[in-house]
Amino acid sequence: MDMEKMITAVQKALLIDVDGRAGPQTWGAIYERIVGPLRIEVEEGDDSAVDSRSEGVINTLLPEVRPYARELLFKAAAAGIRIKIISGLRTYEEQNRLYAKGRTIPNTSIVTNAQGGESNHNFGIAFDIGVFEGSKYLDDSPKYKAVGVLGKELGLEWGGNWKSIVDQPHFQLRPTWANGMSERSMLAELRRRKAAGHAVYV
Ligand SMILES: [Zn+2]
Repeated sequence: MDMEKMITAVQKALLIDVDGRAGPQTWGAIYERIVGPLRIEVEEGDDSAVDSRSEGVINTLLPEVRPYARELLFKAAAAGIRIKIISGLRTYEEQNRLYAKGRTIPNTSIVTNAQGGESNHNFGIAFDIGVFEGSKYLDDSPKYKAVGVLGKELGLEWGGNWKSIVDQPHFQLRPTWANGMSERSMLAELRRRKAAGHAVYV
């Protein structure tokens, strides 16, 4: 039996739309059947579904991005991978402090090529994950690639696909107006909107 036939059979058994592809709906139904009720819309102050560290970071993101971060957690959990959302919004100042690492701060190494206003993290549309085994954080694991696939299924962009600096823990939600735009042009428009106090996702 090939993969498509298996997924089709699973979709029929779960009484969901049958298309032979395991997207968010299929994964959600599998998760619910095996693990329990899926809760994507987490109530304010309810951290029983998402660990409190992740929830704190998720709340720094734009409201449009939060359900994606939470669903990525659920999808990873359903695939047996424990992740936390460990980094979200950064101010321009915080970004500049990161940029100084490996450059003007002694005894540090370079962690980013983006200065303030040059990172998608500065606009609340990007987040980084950490893979954990028990309570141990893994900074290098093949599981990052597996989570990257799950994120792309959700419609997120994954830093593991980047050509210049591969950034496997990184995910971002591209606004529809930026479809087909270069990263540089998108960032320029994000800076313009932020300076003008305009919303990102309109
Ligand atoms: Zn990142």
